[in-house]
Amino acid sequence: MTQTVAAYAATSATAPLTKTTIERRDVGPHDVAFDIKFAGICHSDIHTVRGEWGRANYPVVPGHEIAGVVTAVGAEVTRYQVGDRVGVGCFVDSCRDCENCQAGLQQYCTGAGGMRGTYNSTERDGSPTQGGYSQAIVVNENYVLRIPDSIPLDKAAPLLCAGVTLYSPLRHWKAGPGRKVAVVGLGGLGHMGVKLAAAMGAEVTVLSQSLKKMEDGLRLGASHYYATSDPDTFTKLAGSFDLILNTVSANLNLGAYLNLLKVDGTLVELGMPEHAMEVPPFPLAGMRRSLSGSMIGGIPETQEMLDFCAEHDVTPEIEVIDASYVNEAYERVLASDVRYRFVIDTATI
Ligand code: NAP
Ligand code: ZN
Ligand code: ZN
Repeated sequence: MTQTVAAYAATSATAPLTKTTIERRDVGPHDVAFDIKFAGICHSDIHTVRGEWGRANYPVVPGHEIAGVVTAVGAEVTRYQVGDRVGVGCFVDSCRDCENCQAGLQQYCTGAGGMRGTYNSTERDGSPTQGGYSQAIVVNENYVLRIPDSIPLDKAAPLLCAGVTLYSPLRHWKAGPGRKVAVVGLGGLGHMGVKLAAAMGAEVTVLSQSLKKMEDGLRLGASHYYATSDPDTFTKLAGSFDLILNTVSANLNLGAYLNLLKVDGTLVELGMPEHAMEVPPFPLAGMRRSLSGSMIGGIPETQEMLDFCAEHDVTPEIEVIDASYVNEAYERVLASDVRYRFVIDTATI
């Protein structure tokens, strides 16, 4: 039997999100059904519903930072039981079969259907996926994460996207003691980058538009904080970093940031602005620097990140909101007025 659940959806690129209902599928033999308790608001939700990444398939129920409690499991499910605290991130399925899926890199699935996004994508049967701004969801057990007991569900939610999106490149490019890491943009992703990189032992610098959030940045674990609106920042810090993680949701002058890398340093693009950015060849070639990118993380790495956060007491700074506040929350995210992740209490839908 399908289940009707309350949700918040966007019906067009310009309309505000409004309350609605959606149907969740029957719990199949390998499915886990859970009550969503909290859902984080990621800037990607805004890019998607406003059509900045191409026309969305409306109505769209956004939300891919989902945390809740299991209410039912299918007959063949072995990994979860009713009552378990679980989460779902940016995807709910993939081909399960290609080289990348086999390697646990489901986010880079190259098989049929590819990575099936938690919303604005399709299930295997072709029906649209709908995300976490809703009260329940049904997901194949292999795409569900376990939330460690020490992490409250509201703080767990943002880890499922913002957390793993920073954890994965920090691990891949070996952030740790003796490595200088800069995080550009102190928003939802950026503040997790500061906390995680500091927990890994790296020396962290925040590059923010202004010094408004400096006290926060230092409290979160950064050793240094600079304003990118000050041209002196770019002369002072030239050639300083092993790794720069760009989390900015708008276009930046990439050349200016590449110049801040040491020889062989890497700038990793994590922000996904609507428009393309130019890459000037001289700052790249001159110091054998690399420009790369990274997208969320696979299932095994997401679980590893959750366990790391429990062990190192790393959780996001959140503002829990009622669902009816979602449209204002979007405006505040767009104005860089978020400290540092909005999380919807789904009981208020
Ligand atoms: P967010 O909370 O809005 O943070 C973005 C930050 O970028 C802002 O807080 C602000 O930091 C800075 N910023 C915004 N506009 C700027 C501008 N015009 N110039 C310079 N800096 C600006 O957003 P988020 O949720 O962290 O997401 C950030 C980006 O990452 C989005 O594009 C999102 O789609 C993308 N994303 C990518 C992945 C992935 O897998 N790669 C995963 C999730 C999200 P300051 O005020 O400190 O300057
Ligand atoms: Zn996200
Ligand atoms: Zn695959």
